[in-house]
Amino acid sequence: MRRAGLPLVLILAALALPFVVTSPFYLHIIVTAAIFSIVALGLDIVFGYTGEVSIGHAALFGIGAYTAGSLFTHLGWGFWPSLLIAPFVAAFFGAVLALPALRVTGPYLAMVTLAFGTIVQILINEMTDLGPWLGHFDLTHGPLGVTLTTPVFYDWRDLGDSLPLFDMSIKRVREAQYFYVCALFLGLTVVVVNRVVASRFGRAFEALRDSPIASDCMGVSVYRHKVMAFVLSAALAGLAGVLFAYSEQYIAPNNFSFDLSVQFLLAVTMGGRKSRLGPILGSAIVVYLPNLLADIDLFRDVALAIAVIAVAAGAYVFVKRPEERVHAATPVAICLAFYAFSLYLQKITDYKLSVFGAMILFVVYYLPDGIVGFLKRLAGALKPDWARGHAAIDAHGEAGAALTRAGGEEGILLAVDQIVMQFGGLRALDKVDLEVARGSIHGLIGPNGSGKSTMMNALTGVYAPTSGAIRLEGADISGLTSPDIAARGVARTFQNVQLFSELTLLENVLVGLHHIYRSTVFDAALATPRARREEKAARARAASILAFVGLAELANEEARNLPYGKQRLLEIGRALALDPKLLLLDEPAAGLTAPDIRELLDIIRKIKAQGITIILIEHHMDVVMSVSDVVTVLDFGQKIAEGKPADVQANPRVIEAYLGGAAAHAA
Ligand code: ADP
Ligand code: MG
Repeated sequence: MRRAGLPLVLILAALALPFVVTSPFYLHIIVTAAIFSIVALGLDIVFGYTGEVSIGHAALFGIGAYTAGSLFTHLGWGFWPSLLIAPFVAAFFGAVLALPALRVTGPYLAMVTLAFGTIVQILINEMTDLGPWLGHFDLTHGPLGVTLTTPVFYDWRDLGDSLPLFDMSIKRVREAQYFYVCALFLGLTVVVVNRVVASRFGRAFEALRDSPIASDCMGVSVYRHKVMAFVLSAALAGLAGVLFAYSEQYIAPNNFSFDLSVQFLLAVTMGGRKSRLGPILGSAIVVYLPNLLADIDLFRDVALAIAVIAVAAGAYVFVKRPEERVHAATPVAICLAFYAFSLYLQKITDYKLSVFGAMILFVVYYLPDGIVGFLKRLAGALKPDWARGHAAIDAHGEAGAALTRAGGEEGILLAVDQIVMQFGGLRALDKVDLEVARGSIHGLIGPNGSGKSTMMNALTGVYAPTSGAIRLEGADISGLTSPDIAARGVARTFQNVQLFSELTLLENVLVGLHHIYRSTVFDAALATPRARREEKAARARAASILAFVGLAELANEEARNLPYGKQRLLEIGRALALDPKLLLLDEPAAGLTAPDIRELLDIIRKIKAQGITIILIEHHMDVVMSVSDVVTVLDFGQKIAEGKPADVQANPRVIEAYLGGAAAHAA
């Protein structure tokens, strides 16, 4: 009942809106805001979730619009066929745009998307003549633009003139209907995006943002999910493009310029990334702002409203949080100054761009999580502490039930043969052999820089070894990618903890459980029974894994809020989610306190009891010696000793390597 409440209210509000907002001008603004919202919601998948900045979304939007325009002018195809086709066309270009995203990230990718946007705009301008082979076909009409006619989907005046509600001109009917269509697609977009980002795919997007290397090593291919995020995002931009083309009834190349891409990005940042409300709110502001800046009286009213809110918030901080007074003073002063400036202004048009720019600066600086993020924080601060606490996790299953793949026959699980890893002039691994028996704990020790982590990276496909073979259960895995190796049951932790920091503990483990799902992104979008069933099962399993490493109480906490020792345990839990045969632990005790180390040793023994083979890299001699069955010692990339812990400890070469290292360290 409660879950149906909000959507019902929204639907009724949307139905009533065209009858309340009788001005065609404002209705058009609302329609445009709805269309922009669809793009912004899609852009948020790329920006908020995978963390990549795209300044190319106006181009994808334009591709959608021009698909509609071309189908209309050349084939006479109307609204619905375009709406079906355009998302696919845009999705194709989204995939093209994603290709560079696999090589470069951050500012470099932003520049690539910018270039993409420029190229598309130029192409739209120039594709007036597709050359002699295609009969000099004029695809886009270039700078002249394309004209379309908005359809009348259903003339409700046919129902009769007696009802006053239906006493409208055909123009009004068309506008009202078009609003309904856009509102419907916005609603669908919200639902679909909501479901996808809450599914394993959304978690994968966030995982690759927070740690691509850990993502790959959890079997969640960065490559595949980046492409998927861009494709989804582009399809939504394409869909919105069709809606835009029919809303404007005229499109030209300069509708889809760089400015528009920036506006989409601004809508997401200003409204608040990683939310549904944020991009919608942001789009509304972005679309409405030019009108606000065209009307000086309205502008003053809004500036006054902002100043009043700022003063009220400032007063609250002044009374309740004295320690933040200094912090809060500046934004309040800025808001007041903004109001004073609005009174002083006579003609606003001269200052349009500066005001726009100043607002962006203010929002980015003071509301880094956008308006919705700010409100969420405020709401969080007002809530009593227990409400912020951790909602009960679904179920505590049997811990062992989550781990099924290990165990089985005796023998050698992993055989490394003459592996070499060369970095320029440095041989980090120099013809090392390693045999790891099934079900054992194999210690790997050596002074700093002896090649232990390099070995682990080579075993998990992070580095491709220069030469040598790595056999897992007899099959050569050297040269496979990290996700492939992970899929074969090799899990790992990292020397510098690599958690998905913005995900909760439960979600971190769920990323490791990605491999147990069979449902597709379509299942997720449609919330099919299969998708729900799998998600529920995975959550129960994740909960039992968290219980296994002793973190069940913190399941809904964000990983970045964990103390260091617990982060290491979570990383082990996440690795266990992969249901590994072989678990590689890279200095799990580094930086832990003595009680934490005891807890860690308990967990390592428990993992061994499940039949999982472990390679344990450790600096703390006592830790390795107390749990390992066999210990291998590396020094300068070469194996210098191997055997039972006690024998290795007594080995003169080992003592020398360690003492030599310590002596050098002391010097
Ligand atoms: P440790 O045994 O302390 O884990 P590492 O395996 O991290 O040692 O490093 C072994 C050697 O290889 C070091 O000299 C390190 O500087 C070098 N090394 C490791 N990774 C790289 C890399 N990606 N590029 C160049 N040198 C590297
Ligand atoms: Mg290391």
